[in-house]
Amino acid sequence: MVRKCVLCDERRAVLRRPKTHQQVCKDCFFAAFEDEVHRTIIDNRLFKRGDRVAIGASGGKDSTVLAYIMKLLNDRHGYGLDLFLLSIDEGITGYRDDSLETVKRNEEQYGIPLKIVSYKELYGWTMDEIVREIGRKNNCTFCGVFRRQALDRGAAALRATKMVTGHNADDVAETVLLNILRGDIARLSRCAAISTGDDGALPRSKPFKYTYEKEIVMYAYFKKLDYFSTECIYSPNAYRGFAREYVKDLEAIRPQAILDIIRSAEEFRFSLTAKMPEQGTCERCGYISSQRWCKACVLLEGLNKGLPQLGVSKSRGSAKAPSASSRTPIFLA
Ligand code: SF4
Ligand code: ZN
Repeated sequence: MVRKCVLCDERRAVLRRPKTHQQVCKDCFFAAFEDEVHRTIIDNRLFKRGDRVAIGASGGKDSTVLAYIMKLLNDRHGYGLDLFLLSIDEGITGYRDDSLETVKRNEEQYGIPLKIVSYKELYGWTMDEIVREIGRKNNCTFCGVFRRQALDRGAAALRATKMVTGHNADDVAETVLLNILRGDIARLSRCAAISTGDDGALPRSKPFKYTYEKEIVMYAYFKKLDYFSTECIYSPNAYRGFAREYVKDLEAIRPQAILDIIRSAEEFRFSLTAKMPEQGTCERCGYISSQRWCKACVLLEGLNKGLPQLGVSKSRGSAKAPSASSRTPIFLA
């Protein structure tokens, strides 16, 4: 028996929406997916007319679908945004070089200008070189800190007023659980926010905060979007992997679980005794920091001095400024 789409009651249902388990046709799936992202953008006032929006683009499914849909919604609803693709080249041979080729094709396909900034030009090190120096243990700590700052510097070079990233609902739920498991109250208090940047940094938002990963994959598949699906060769992150599996198991039993974890985190209230660090700027590079030196400068100093453990400490908020080294980071204007 041919099953009809529950939304239009006309066309044949070809898929079951992972988020709602409704049997729908392709067109109704596209419409529902796009409308939900549009609603998220409007309800949370993510942009204003004239904003220059940098889309963090890795060539992976999330950011590729994000770039596609930002262009589509901007044209369809007349948001009045100037869009840019912003990619970070961490210098990971056999992974990032291939995924950047995808982003370069996306630039052509969507007609959105692309800027690439590399760790090598910003910090003087590629991730390949860092892993050779420090091994495979804390590589993601270095990479995460460097990426955050690289994105901000790339966005500044584009004169962007906003940045969007492809973090989806699964990512947010996973991060909430991870922060609970680690007892990281400072991060827990902000990880479910749809936008950050109240501390003076460039406002960043996640238009896919309520979008399920499986739906992003389906959307990319049915739209035949061009994306890159290989994992980073240096990805260990066993602890995050555990949280990821746990979220997937919960989703299999009850799809709503993902949204419920996010909503719980949105409603958390934090004790006023948990003092948030005051923000200033790094004495060395001028980047936003609650310490004398920002985390990237501390990590870089460790690398340049052959003491890579220097900034990889368990105690947060204790980054001391080491004495200046001869190798100074090179930053984009
Ligand atoms: Fe960087 Fe780790 Fe992500 Fe690889 S898995 S890109 S090393 S943060
Ligand atoms: Zn710094």
